[in-house]
Amino acid sequence: MELQKDAGRRDKGIHYKAKRYVVIGDDMFYRTLEGLLLKCLGPVESNRLLHEVHEGTCGTHQSARKMKWLIRWSGYYWPTMLEDCFKYYKGCQACQRFGKI
Ligand SMILES: [Zn+2]
Repeated sequence: MELQKDAGRRDKGIHYKAKRYVVIGDDMFYRTLEGLLLKCLGPVESNRLLHEVHEGTCGTHQSARKMKWLIRWSGYYWPTMLEDCFKYYKGCQACQRFGKI
């Protein structure tokens, strides 16, 4: 009985039910329909990436949908990425001032 309890606790820790998520070492990955593994980012890392994609060294003030595409293409994922791209885009003063480029 004791052993079974322990096993149940461990399964929760590795997101047993969510088959689309894979844990490797300390990192969690999201499996796409194509079978690619995208690294899941937390709030701090994802914000940094949004900034980088939109107005960092390679950023050219892309639209929200292009930002999401670029993030996935770079191998990253988080559940609210599209929503966050829109938020970031709307919060960018340059984009709001000049509109579509
Ligand atoms: Zn912008």
